[in-house]
Amino acid sequence: MSGINMDALRARLSELKEATEQRAFWTPAQGSNRVRIMPPWNELGKIHTEAWVHWGLGETGRQMTFCPLKNKVGPCYVCEQVALLKASTKQVDLELAQRLTPNLRVMFNVVDRAAPEKGVQIWGTGIANLREIMSLIADPQWGDITDSEAGVNLVIERTGTNLGTRYTIRPERQPSPLDKSWLSQLHDLDAMVVHKTYDELKVMYDAGRRSGGGDEGDPTVGVPTIAPTRHTPVQVPAASASTSATVDVPDCYSLWNDANDPICKGCALFQPCANATTARQAKAAYVAPDGVVRKAVG
Ligand SMILES: [Zn+2]
Repeated sequence: MSGINMDALRARLSELKEATEQRAFWTPAQGSNRVRIMPPWNELGKIHTEAWVHWGLGETGRQMTFCPLKNKVGPCYVCEQVALLKASTKQVDLELAQRLTPNLRVMFNVVDRAAPEKGVQIWGTGIANLREIMSLIADPQWGDITDSEAGVNLVIERTGTNLGTRYTIRPERQPSPLDKSWLSQLHDLDAMVVHKTYDELKVMYDAGRRSGGGDEGDPTVGVPTIAPTRHTPVQVPAASASTSATVDVPDCYSLWNDANDPICKGCALFQPCANATTARQAKAAYVAPDGVVRKAVG
């Protein structure tokens, strides 16, 4: 008797929920857009939130999800696959690894001046636009462009498509007061950063690879064919863009964990790795550099 595939069901449910939430998201149209960046949604004074994300996942091969590893909340199946792909000798694997490497994503509350009836929407964008907007606010000539009375609209020009998409941002001269009803519609942007479980990420990753996920149709793409090299360091920038600290995540992270293994004993990530490995112990198998397959029991 076969039961329901609960992992697949939960992942699909999560995708359906996301599709509903997408209505709250704003995307700049090609050409010129007029938008108002909204003031802080709580007393902490933040106008944006930022988090690391993976692209190229899910049934469409185009979905985004937050990266638990880079955001320092837990293990990430996608990052493990990226580490394996980076160890491959195939160009397609290396290109896929590049596409799946996490990016820093920024979110703002905005009102589209061309569609004010949609109320407050969420603009998800990259770090370059955050830098532009922060530079404006830090410039005494402009100051707090989000102020409900004295703030100004931004004109955002979008050109190009996909990886060639470019933005230019400039503020309008005249203040543009906000409709007070919008201030009660501000989204808690920190609450938008919701991480999927390790197993949900696996389902999303596998679905993305089945869909092609933007590759050239090679069915072996995304299925690493060689064992990882133990302790090849992977440089992982810190979660905050404002610091330059790095941590080394070995390629074997969460794939194998043994308190009696001399390499594990000396590893700074032993405990989080142990937790991650236990969570998936039934499936864990690690091919050591000597070719010996170690299969976890439990
Ligand atoms: Zn990740």
